[in-house]
Amino acid sequence: MKRREFIFVLGRIASGFWPRRNTIIAAMAAMVLLPIEVSDAGWLSDVFKGSSKQAKSSKQAKSAKQVKSPKRVTSRKPAALAKSAASPKRRDIKLAALGPVGLNPAAFKPVATRCDPAKFRIVLDVGHTAESEGAISARNVSEFTFNLRLAKRIEEKLKAEGFAQTKLLVTEGKARRSLVKRVAAANDLPADLLLSIHHDSVPNKFLEDWEFEGKKRHFSDRFSGYSVFVSRINPDFKTSFAFAELIAKEMKAQGLDYARQYSQAIMGRYQRELLNKETGVYRYDELIVLRKTRMAAVLLEAGSIINRDEELKMSSQERRDIVSSGVTAAVKEFCEPRWAMLGPL
Ligand SMILES: [Zn+2]
Repeated sequence: MKRREFIFVLGRIASGFWPRRNTIIAAMAAMVLLPIEVSDAGWLSDVFKGSSKQAKSSKQAKSAKQVKSPKRVTSRKPAALAKSAASPKRRDIKLAALGPVGLNPAAFKPVATRCDPAKFRIVLDVGHTAESEGAISARNVSEFTFNLRLAKRIEEKLKAEGFAQTKLLVTEGKARRSLVKRVAAANDLPADLLLSIHHDSVPNKFLEDWEFEGKKRHFSDRFSGYSVFVSRINPDFKTSFAFAELIAKEMKAQGLDYARQYSQAIMGRYQRELLNKETGVYRYDELIVLRKTRMAAVLLEAGSIINRDEELKMSSQERRDIVSSGVTAAVKEFCEPRWAMLGPL
């Protein structure tokens, strides 16, 4: 795709969102300034990986400087939100009590948030694209299909709870370009919070063969569960982590278990630092969708679709309802800490 086509596509995406004048400028800046290194690593091949080394490059520094110029927008928070941020009492999240490990405790200082649901702009980023589908399930269904169905259900629930500005971000094209588009679109809105929706698989070495509907397919029943990822490189890591903690806590409260394998050495280069051993929040600095977005951002792997049992569950309306209830409870709690008292929806 040529650059002009790219801008056109992005314009189409952005036009479905909150209007903003400098779409094209932002798109061009993002395109020129976002160094992207997509690895060819198995199911994560287009999950937006970028090298952290690049983040430190001079090119990157230049990019940071440029996006900071007048149009730079950290999440455009409602006045009420900024106001409440000054109140030390609000949001004494019990997050700290959950026992994050491995990072400087200062990083986990509670984040004060309060927002008006009617104005709060949460973007639900549908992981991957129709063209670049992400993982393939044990029964040969694309991850993109799962991501889209779940994200739509979450959108419905959030809107039903008054989060009228919730937007679904569906991008087009190949993995590499779709990264640029989704990051630029989210930054340009600008969103207050981004949640990227995914479904999990395993590194190729764990795959086994089986036959489904007369065809050879791959599966691995070895791992299951959800996981939540945050990037330390996100400019609002504290808020990202606070939201990740809420998502993970609510998923757990819904009776779900998190995927334990990411903290294990058998995962090799996919091994991640576990930030909260109670709820399952992992650190994954390099994910472009988390580190290049200028608002708080979290990635949710809702469950494994390469696990044959869990795939069936993830295919069900019931599980979509469970996950979307957990996410909605987390967003409500994020915006209004008193919801924390009431437990899951
Ligand atoms: Zn994915």
